[in-house]
Amino acid sequence: MRWKGRKQSTNIEDRRGRGGSFRRKSSFGGIGFFIILLLFLFFGQGQNLLDFSGNTPQSQAPSQSSANGTPDEVKEFIGVILQTSEEVWGDIFARSNARYQQPKLVMFEGRVQSACGITSSATGPFYCPGDNKIYIDPSFFSELNRMGAKGDFAKAYVIAHELGHHIQSLQGISDRVTRMQQRMSSRQANKLSVRLELQADCYAGIWGHHTEKKLHLLEDGDIEEAINAAYLIGDDHMQRRAGMGVNTSAFTHGSSKQRAHWFQVGILTGKVSKCDTFADMR
Ligand SMILES: [Zn+2]
Repeated sequence: MRWKGRKQSTNIEDRRGRGGSFRRKSSFGGIGFFIILLLFLFFGQGQNLLDFSGNTPQSQAPSQSSANGTPDEVKEFIGVILQTSEEVWGDIFARSNARYQQPKLVMFEGRVQSACGITSSATGPFYCPGDNKIYIDPSFFSELNRMGAKGDFAKAYVIAHELGHHIQSLQGISDRVTRMQQRMSSRQANKLSVRLELQADCYAGIWGHHTEKKLHLLEDGDIEEAINAAYLIGDDHMQRRAGMGVNTSAFTHGSSKQRAHWFQVGILTGKVSKCDTFADMR
């Protein structure tokens, strides 16, 4: 993907560094304070005390500076992807005489507070409809790498998927699904969640389609990177990876085949109307 040096979005909230200190405080508790006090008594230097109790060691997470560039490169990358999405979705909304409300994207590490509560980065990137923000701990990108989802377009797909949830929220689809789920068995509700997730994959594809058409950012192999990523994070693949048998009733995001399929529908057509993943349920 040709993203370097491009314009970046101004809608990024960088909260990295805060989660680390939270973790440290909660796990160390009173002992931590005691050690700080001892250090203070030995060295009597206010500055060292600040360094020790702060989060410097954790904010320099090695995972971010290895395979995925420095923390600033990661921020630049996310900023560029977010900016392209603002252009692309801005155009799509404008074509139907609507105004696209740009979401904020929060970068965090460890855990984060949102209108959806406190979330650990183990959850993976997420969108919170309560505050219309996307939350990403960039260490997830290293996780993707480890899973074999390599390449920058694979990472961009993950961001574009979360943006897809923002679009669903603007369209009122997420609200409608939540209301319907309240009247259903958990099994049925789960099925609806899968449809919602697959639609977000399709919307990610739409972003890819128009990013290429308008901005020509794609390189050979990019689309394959995203399809591979969609495949690797499919529920059946994840269950097998976790050493479990495939249990379709526990699917939350759809199978590898479904995820890759809907991403392709989006990237090939570029049309929101083609992303009706709920069609055969009606
Ligand atoms: Zn999702």
